[in-house]
Amino acid sequence: MATPLAALYIAVHRSRLGGVARPLIANDQEVLRPYFHPSDLRRVRVVESDPLPVSEPALTDTLRRLGLSFPQVSLVEAITFGHVIAAREPMALGLLFHELVHVVQFRLLGVPRFTWLYARGLLEGGSYESIPLERCAFHLEERYRRGEAGFSVEMEVLSWIREHRF
Ligand SMILES: [Zn+2]
Repeated sequence: MATPLAALYIAVHRSRLGGVARPLIANDQEVLRPYFHPSDLRRVRVVESDPLPVSEPALTDTLRRLGLSFPQVSLVEAITFGHVIAAREPMALGLLFHELVHVVQFRLLGVPRFTWLYARGLLEGGSYESIPLERCAFHLEERYRRGEAGFSVEMEVLSWIREHRF
């Protein structure tokens, strides 16, 4: 039953934050073009605010009481709702890359499926770091940070979906 609530939480924040968010600056779009579809780079929106203008979902409190490790939402560096990224400080490219992987995951999976897989990953793995959607984002971010010249994040995410790795 948690999943529809979490999907609603994401939808509410996506529309609330979407109104005050800005597009990616042209230079970031240029630098990230070898990795992301141009339409993803054009449609993504960014909100920078400290603390994050997001409410703590009732769900995370419950999860922590169950002994699962999940960071307090308003204290994370950045969080992504669909195509809207909220960050506490101007994002360096590595963090922006990571959040853009989530934007691609959201587009390919849809909000309800993403949310369900995210919640299942947390319940099965017991911590934020063990969630497959996060492991995929950290893995691709790491390849980017190591200086890999260019690869399609979309193709990578599609192969994770095809192989049922989420
Ligand atoms: Zn992440």
